[in-house]
Amino acid sequence: MNIAIAGSGAMGCRFGWRLYQSGHDVLLIDSWKDHVKAIQANGLEVKTENGSSISKIPASFPSDSKGTAELLIVFTKAMQTQSMVESCLHLIGDKTWVLTLQNGLGNIEIIERYVPKHRILAGVTTFATELLAPGKIQALGSGDTEIMRVEGEISEEVEEIARMMDAAGLRTVISPSALISIWNKVAFNCVLNPLCTLMNNTVGAVGSYSGIMDLAGRIIDEIILVAKAENIQLHRETIIAMIEKQFDPKMASHHLASMLQDMQSGRKTEIEYLNGAIVKKGEQYGIPVPNNEFIYHLILMMEETRKHRLGHH
Ligand code: NAD
Repeated sequence: MNIAIAGSGAMGCRFGWRLYQSGHDVLLIDSWKDHVKAIQANGLEVKTENGSSISKIPASFPSDSKGTAELLIVFTKAMQTQSMVESCLHLIGDKTWVLTLQNGLGNIEIIERYVPKHRILAGVTTFATELLAPGKIQALGSGDTEIMRVEGEISEEVEEIARMMDAAGLRTVISPSALISIWNKVAFNCVLNPLCTLMNNTVGAVGSYSGIMDLAGRIIDEIILVAKAENIQLHRETIIAMIEKQFDPKMASHHLASMLQDMQSGRKTEIEYLNGAIVKKGEQYGIPVPNNEFIYHLILMMEETRKHRLGHH
């Protein structure tokens, strides 16, 4: 299959690498000059628990990319989805499937402005990856991937894409509840990411706070009400179980949440597409979401004022 990865950072490279290894025609597309140049010159270096390997995967800037992709996987951060899709329109034809596995709410709606809804696939993945340096990623453990057609109906072609991704080791299934999984992951991320960022601490340390599940429950209850207004029925127990698992003190996780890493590196966070999206939808449906609103403002305030923080060099 002819596959374009639109946004080849940590996750785009991980998925692109697996698909390339599986024999597909993959193009890694990104606008980060040092990264693209490093892959073009030396190949993509992937570190796993079994060592390091180099794959000579083609890489290019959006403007240099050519042809029509059969599958285009959008893997930018949510705030970059629009500019990425706009810069890849020349790769999208009538027969192109566009898949998003990004975190947050709103990616599907942005893609829908440019791509007919019946060609859009969406889902979630629990694979995790770190970008170590230009042209170099660390593949962290394994994961699972769920996809579905945004319009719901499953076709032979969609089954073929899921089979192809699964055969590449991306452990992919078609799931009619992938939209619910997207919301579950949003609820999970609305708790874990901003709290770890605000506390400037590891997942394990934040999870050791005695009142953590009470606080998590308040944030989640608001999200469940907003989801219900969109006809999405979430199960509180499922989300709580996901959070408890991450915060389990026995796991003593030293993991740094991605939002904290973005904050520390001076990048914008995905807050607008997490708690920020809940605030907007809450306003739209007249549902008060004070816990999410407060967290949203604190993260925005941190982003805007981080340069002037005491002790900041
Ligand atoms: P990332 O920042 O490492 O990668 C995004 C890449 O997109 C960057 O290399 C950036 O240069 C590129 N980009 C952005 N705008 C562009 C544009 N207009 N044109 C060309 N290139 C552009 O992000 P990531 O960690 O790979 O995450 C991608 C998405 O997947 C996010 O929604 C994230 O929340 C989600 N996710 C990440 C992980 C993880 O472990 N990293 C796991 C699951 C889901």
